[in-house]
Amino acid sequence: QKIHYSKPEWLRKKITLSSLREVEAIIAKGKLHTVCQEAMCPNIGECFSRKQATFLILGNQCTRRCTFCNVSKETPLSPDPDEPAHVTESVAAMGLRHVVITSPTRDDLPDGGAAHFAKVVQAIKAYDRTIVVELLIPDMQEDEDALRIIARSGAEIVGHNLETVPRLYHIRKGAKYERSLRVLKKLAELNPQVKTKSGIMLGLGEKEEEVTALMQDLLDHECRLLSIGQYLSPSQEHTEVVEFVPPERFDHFYDVGMAMGFHFIKSSPYTRSSYMADEYLKS
Ligand code: SF4
Ligand code: SF4
Repeated sequence: QKIHYSKPEWLRKKITLSSLREVEAIIAKGKLHTVCQEAMCPNIGECFSRKQATFLILGNQCTRRCTFCNVSKETPLSPDPDEPAHVTESVAAMGLRHVVITSPTRDDLPDGGAAHFAKVVQAIKAYDRTIVVELLIPDMQEDEDALRIIARSGAEIVGHNLETVPRLYHIRKGAKYERSLRVLKKLAELNPQVKTKSGIMLGLGEKEEEVTALMQDLLDHECRLLSIGQYLSPSQEHTEVVEFVPPERFDHFYDVGMAMGFHFIKSSPYTRSSYMADEYLKS
């Protein structure tokens, strides 16, 4: 489908095709999915040269219906027991040093996929425990047992994205703003060693005071790492972009958030949850 807008100058970064092909060749071998490829992420050249990538585990079918997201909404398959080994083989082949692992929401699984996440972390750590693993998880319906498995999986960073301000949660179908906040707090309580992280998109019609209120909510729920990027609509069937937010506003939210008490914020039009993810640990 055609995308129904023309991007401003600051959003015309070109995808590095050679990097994309390189990743594709390795990933195809393990029958895996990466967000980098699926989203044709323009950061791929940069991320790959920094030895980082984001794997989508537990299939590429989601049980939720967010109207901004391009992940397919068919019936998901059972977790692949070979996936932890295949992810690890790809990590090794790509020489990755910082791996982000995410999944669609799996409300069909009793533990939301938590045990499978943990198996992937353990397989990577068994190969090389110095590889940093970051998980970006769905809300797992706030199930404490599932969140305990995630918090104690061995991952250094665990993220859960708020995506947008509470007034706009109609685009995040099946999700609840307060529940997502509680998930972040629970993760921090279950393992204080883990750094919790969240991400939001701008350009959906949010107001300045709504963004700062969201930032305060995150801090109040022990989350001190934040990514802020521009929302881009995958197609005409998805939620429309209300505004292309200029780079200076991203800088502004960076300044505001750091003054409020965040330890690390990545804020720019191109920022994605996993963009420059290795920098977060230095905070
Ligand atoms: Fe992959 Fe994330 Fe980097 Fe995009 S920003 S290329 S999704 S690791
Ligand atoms: Fe996409 Fe996540 Fe929403 Fe599923 S829950 S539709 S993967 S944003």
